[in-house]
Amino acid sequence: MLKVSEALERICKRAKPLGVTTVPLEGSLGHVLAEDIVARFNLPNFNQSAVDGYAVGSERFKFKLLDLEIKAGDVPNITLNKDEAVRIFTGAIVPDGTYAVVPQENVNVSDGYLEINKVISRNENIRFEGEDISKGDVVLESGKIITPPIVALLASMGYSLVKVYKKPRIAIITTGNELISIRKDPPKGKVIDSNIYQMKAIVQAWGLNVVFSKRVPDDLDSIVLALKDAFLEADVVITSGGISIGEYDLIREALKALGVRKDFWQVLQKPGKPLFFGVKGRKLFFGLPGNPVAVSICMYIYVRAAVRKMMGLECDVLDDFIYGILSEDINKSSKRLEFIRAIMRYPKDRKYLPVVKPIEKRGSHMLTSMADANAILIAPEGISFLEHCEEVKVLPVNWFGL
Ligand code: AMP
Ligand code: MG
Repeated sequence: MLKVSEALERICKRAKPLGVTTVPLEGSLGHVLAEDIVARFNLPNFNQSAVDGYAVGSERFKFKLLDLEIKAGDVPNITLNKDEAVRIFTGAIVPDGTYAVVPQENVNVSDGYLEINKVISRNENIRFEGEDISKGDVVLESGKIITPPIVALLASMGYSLVKVYKKPRIAIITTGNELISIRKDPPKGKVIDSNIYQMKAIVQAWGLNVVFSKRVPDDLDSIVLALKDAFLEADVVITSGGISIGEYDLIREALKALGVRKDFWQVLQKPGKPLFFGVKGRKLFFGLPGNPVAVSICMYIYVRAAVRKMMGLECDVLDDFIYGILSEDINKSSKRLEFIRAIMRYPKDRKYLPVVKPIEKRGSHMLTSMADANAILIAPEGISFLEHCEEVKVLPVNWFGL
C-alpha cells in the first residue's frame, strides 16, 4: 500500500498541463496565465496630477492664474512660464513647464493671482509617466493565477485577450444502491446522495465546470455505461463509493472493462484508504470511497493536486502546510497517516503559532467533523501518539479557489 506522499507524487507525475487557450479578459478570472505579460506602454502613460489643485511654474509663492482649467481627459497645449499657474484636477495631463502641483487646500485665489501658503518641492504631486510600469517590462509571469487586481493590470495594459491554461472538465458519478435524491424524509435503509452535491460544490468553488454527473446503483452495466459517457466528456472522472473490497464494490471491475489503467489503489491514510487512481489515455480517474468525509479529504488533497497541475499550477498541495500547537493528546494508529479535521485559531496578538484543536467527532462518516473544520492536521505515519503542546503540521482549509 502506498504512503500519502508516494500517492501524491504519482498523481503529480501523471497529471499534465492540458494546453493553452486564449480567453477574453472578462472570462479569465481563476485561469492561470500561460504567457509572460509585457507592458505595451508606460503606466501611467502620461505625466499627470495626483491631486485637485494648481500646476505652478516654479518654486515661487505667487503666480498669475491662467484663465483655463485642465480636467482629467483634457489635452492642454500650453507651456507654463515661471510666474504662471493653472487650475488642474486629479488624473489630468500636467502641462509642460510645471514645477509642481499644489493641492487646492494650500492656496488662496484672488484677483487673478494664486498665492500658496506652503513650501513645495519640485515634482510634488506629479505622477510620472512610467513610474509604475515601463514599456517592455515583464509585468506578470506565466504561471500566475488571475485574480481581480491582475484583471485590472491586464486591462490597463490593453490586453482584451489572454493566453491561459485550459481548465479541466470534470465528471462526477456517485454509486450505491442505498442512495436516493434529496428529500425531507428518507425511507429506512436509504441515504441521501450528499456526495453528488458536495463534489459539484467543490468543483464549482474551484471555478471549474462539471460537464457530466450521474448517480448509479451498484450494478456493473450501469456503472460501465456512466463511466463511458463520463470519459467522453471530461478530462477528470471522479466516482464515489464502490471502491472497497466488498462484493458490491464494482468500480474496479467496470474500469477494467473500459481499459482504465490502474496507477494505484489504497493509500496508508485515514480517512480515504480505498482511494483509487488510474488513467485512460490523457484522462485521469479518481475512485473515492463513499464516506462523505473521505470525499472531502480526497478531493481537497488528491483531486485538487491533479487539477492544479492540469491548469498550470504547482501540484503538491501538502507543501502548503504551516505549523501549529496541538491543544490535546492524540492517539492514532501508527500504520496510517491521519488527516485530522481541526479548528485552528491564532492567539490575538499573532505572536505565537496558532493553536490546533482536533474536532471531537473523528469518524470518517461524520459530516460535522469536516463542516466545522478550518484546518487539517497532518498526523504522520509511523507515529501512534501526538502530545499536547507539540508542534504539528496543519493545512489551512480554504475551499474557495485552488
Ligand atoms: P462505500 O464506499 O460504497 O462502501 O460507502 C461507504 C459509506 O458511505 C456507506 O455508508 C455509504 O452509504 C456512504 N455513501 C456512499 N456514497 C454516498 C453518497 N453519494 N452520499 C452519501 N453517503 C454515501
Ligand atoms: Mg457502496
